[in-house]
Amino acid sequence: MKILITGGAGFIGSHLADRLLGMGEEVFVIDDLSTGALKNIEHLQENPRFHLVADTILHEAVMNELVFKCDQIYHMAAAVGVKLIMNRPVETLETNVKGTEMVLKLANSHKRKVLIASTSEVYGKVMDGHNCCVLTEDTDRLMGSTTKRRWAYACSKALDEFLALAYYEEKKLPVIIARIFNTVGPRQTGQYGMVVPNFVQKALIDKPIVVYGDGTQSRSFTHISDAVEALVGLMAEPGAVGQVVNVGNTKEVSIKELALLVKEMTGSESDIEYIPYEKAYGPGFEDMMRRCPDIARIKELIGFEPKVDLRGIIQTVIDYYKE
Ligand code: UDP
Repeated sequence: MKILITGGAGFIGSHLADRLLGMGEEVFVIDDLSTGALKNIEHLQENPRFHLVADTILHEAVMNELVFKCDQIYHMAAAVGVKLIMNRPVETLETNVKGTEMVLKLANSHKRKVLIASTSEVYGKVMDGHNCCVLTEDTDRLMGSTTKRRWAYACSKALDEFLALAYYEEKKLPVIIARIFNTVGPRQTGQYGMVVPNFVQKALIDKPIVVYGDGTQSRSFTHISDAVEALVGLMAEPGAVGQVVNVGNTKEVSIKELALLVKEMTGSESDIEYIPYEKAYGPGFEDMMRRCPDIARIKELIGFEPKVDLRGIIQTVIDYYKE
């Protein structure tokens, strides 16, 4: 098959490209190389089944040709990372909303199956209050005020989900929405805020590991290899069409414990420092205290079971940054 990956030079997209090429598919990547990087895909450049178009997904003529040429689309291109969203909100909103609009419109005109990458951010801060349970796909969302920039990303991706579902229901376009929880592995940059590469890079040079807030907030981390397996599995599963599906790992860890674990695994001399959120992200920042997926739906659909545990996840990041 010919497969289009938007954002295929990014962290998740490039691993997806590796996997699909390994399966014998022909892969077309479009990436504007903003948060994605050539180094993520340079090992693929010699492969005759790999094609890179360095351009934005907002260029309709370019996208039209690619969508027409391909049998399936993985739409991974988005502005991601809390730091990026806080620093460049206009870019975040425009890329995420207009980009997905473009992908869905063209997929619909050529009737191509499309998987839209969404994010656990869409749940907002629902886990902070009394309503604290693991997050199923149908759990209510709780967004902060529009004056709190962080929520711009969550709202942009929620709009992507609405639009994808509307195309499915109204136009019968085969779409799958993968709501991806914190995913970690080699090639993930710490530049836009992601916690694990940040901690590992600091630990390896014995610089302070900086925890935002008091470190009691928790996350559930998924290894990139598990996430990619989930995405490919969902694309191949007819029962996933028209559905929102959580992709994640249910094992939770507090950020404080994470810092200690990274320090231990790297044998680092780093201090663990705690700074207030405002210092990290500017005034009025809101974090979510907990975010853990319910993965019953994906288990039922494709028998998904995450294979790499937290230590395994961190080790792959250590190995990557040591290299
Ligand atoms: N975090 C931290 N230090 C960092 C980067 C992040 O303590 O250098 C915290 C952040 O405030 C959040 C958690 O780690 O509570 C996960 O952050 P990340 O940006 O990786 O993902 P998200 O907030 O989107 O879950």
